[in-house]
Amino acid sequence: MILSIESSCDDSSIAVTDIKTKKLIFHKKISQELQHSQYGGVVPELAARLHVEALPKILEETSEYFDKLKAIAVTNSPGLSVTLMEGVTMAKALATSLELPLIAVNHLKGHIYSLFIEEEEIFPITILLVSGGHTQIIEANSYEDMKIVATTIDDSFGESFDKVSKMMNLGYPGGPIVQEYSLKGDENRFDFPIPLRQSPKIEFSYSGLKNAVRLKIEELNELSTQDIADICASFQKTAVAHIMQKLKKLFKQNPPKNFAIVGGASANIYLRKELESLCKKYNTSLYLSQLKYCSDNAAMIGRVALKQYEKQEFTSIENIDIQTRIKAF
Ligand code: ATP
Ligand code: FE
Repeated sequence: MILSIESSCDDSSIAVTDIKTKKLIFHKKISQELQHSQYGGVVPELAARLHVEALPKILEETSEYFDKLKAIAVTNSPGLSVTLMEGVTMAKALATSLELPLIAVNHLKGHIYSLFIEEEEIFPITILLVSGGHTQIIEANSYEDMKIVATTIDDSFGESFDKVSKMMNLGYPGGPIVQEYSLKGDENRFDFPIPLRQSPKIEFSYSGLKNAVRLKIEELNELSTQDIADICASFQKTAVAHIMQKLKKLFKQNPPKNFAIVGGASANIYLRKELESLCKKYNTSLYLSQLKYCSDNAAMIGRVALKQYEKQEFTSIENIDIQTRIKAF
């Protein structure tokens, strides 16, 4: 079995995965959303402190598997340095005391492999990764051959939901909150401009849209519950329309055989619906990770670790590093 640890942002999670069957033997996550909600976003030092409390608690529950472990896996990039450090420190201590090899896992590969938890891989596949820190399109031919073909030039899709929520003091994380308000709102009340509409390039941008929402909030001054719902719905419609416009370009140029969306924001119902109809039109098979595996979790890190174990991709305890950002896979 492999024990995997995830602490790249505000979720403390540990999983144990069986190497032969790929089955999850244990999986637990303690989310810090409530503690960060009052600040409208993740406070890194608070997050690190909460990991220090939560990770050992979860680890205790896994002690019965210790003598069956063959490796320790941990997210080492990308993420917040102070929170990544907590997971990596625990992983190093475990690898040393249990005399096991260490596997350093890329969190974004983790999001991709959330599609394959307890399953075989599917390749080739084109993936839209929408999370708190990333908005990317990745063309994956195999584990070894993954290429980022489009990315955001400024903010991410998920982060724009967080900021719009924060602007109206609705709480954190903004994605589910804005989505919920949108259900009662009029998506046509405000005409926010679709970002990069005229540009032929396949790339994303969310800072302009965020700004347009901010200006509208300032203009309205006092917001009624209906105003809030209408802003959320109009914003969500535009944020998704931007992604869909770019994806339509991509599908037109080269329709993928398989397509998937992953990352915390892939839980968005509006986005999922739009993608379903696009894929149907092009006869593309659409893969979605289970809702419980969309946001950060150690099960997806364990699934990547199975692959790295198979390839003997280990990192030495002395050399494991932490990277807050990554440029390529
Ligand atoms: P990254 O994976 O890029 O390092 P992260 O790990 O912080 O960032 P995730 O946990 O994958 O991000 O996703 C969290 C993000 O997903 C938050 O920005 C949150 O608002 C967003 N999100 C969650 N649910 C929804 C939803 N239904 N609609 C839109 N956004 C959502
Ligand atoms: Fe993530």
